[in-house]
Amino acid sequence: MNFQDYLKSSKGSIVSFYFWYFLHIINEKTLKNNNFESYIWEFLKCDIFYIAGKCQTSGNCCKNLMLVKNGITLNTKEKFEKIKTKDKKYNRFVPNYLSGTKIKNFSCTCITPQNICSDYQGRPKLCRSYPFSIFLKDDKIPNTCGYYINIKTKVPKIKNKSISNKIDHIINNNDRCRILEEEL
Ligand code: SF4
Ligand code: SF4
Repeated sequence: MNFQDYLKSSKGSIVSFYFWYFLHIINEKTLKNNNFESYIWEFLKCDIFYIAGKCQTSGNCCKNLMLVKNGITLNTKEKFEKIKTKDKKYNRFVPNYLSGTKIKNFSCTCITPQNICSDYQGRPKLCRSYPFSIFLKDDKIPNTCGYYINIKTKVPKIKNKSISNKIDHIINNNDRCRILEEEL
């Protein structure tokens, strides 16, 4: 499944929703496996939420950013240098050090004073997947971004407590999503 395309669509799939919904309940009542629950939730939330809005070229996601590659946070000089030898696209990022070899965050040499990416076509995958990646990882899109989270059409009434708690968590942590709370 391409999460990014699915998260762009306001239309959910009832079949897919119930598949993940019941798998979640089965896991909850039998296996109680946390990793499996997280895996299921990633799919289920894509059946419940979508990402609306558009980029307003604030440049916020391109400044003071932290890089994560294959689930590894590049927070040390060693990790960053290793990635750079494998992927030349990472040469555009300049680390800002916390102390010694520990990296606080990165600046990007491609951001222009107008907050436009000067290498838009050649930007790394992590730039292409923003803000979908941050929603999947953190259940949140910063309020300063032009994109925001919304609820898909035809989401059935959810009775399962742990799933509705997860949904509430997203709604309560994303200001522009709260307006639709009544519909659940
Ligand atoms: S933070 Fe959001 S609105 Fe700002 S540049 Fe990034 S994607 Fe665009
Ligand atoms: S490569 Fe472009 S999109 Fe990625 S951080 Fe730099 S300016 Fe932003």
